[in-house]
Amino acid sequence: MQCDFCGAKAPVIKKTTKSFGRGDKLVVIENIPTVHCSHCHGSYVTAETARELDRIRKNRRTVGKAKQVLVASFKKSAA
Ligand SMILES: [Zn+2]
Repeated sequence: MQCDFCGAKAPVIKKTTKSFGRGDKLVVIENIPTVHCSHCHGSYVTAETARELDRIRKNRRTVGKAKQVLVASFKKSAA
């Protein structure tokens, strides 16, 4: 496997958790295979993974399971 950014044969796949959307469209997707390059430190998902993420987001009501999660807002301003 080659890195999409720098072409190095250094990427490793890591499973990550990400949230998408907001409000009642919010969905948290776990175990997303994300490519991490140890050469340029870029990270990205493959086109195939992006398509699957789209599919999950569209079908979140049927493929998702309701879980109780704690959601916190970051309050402190950056300034
Ligand atoms: Zn790279």
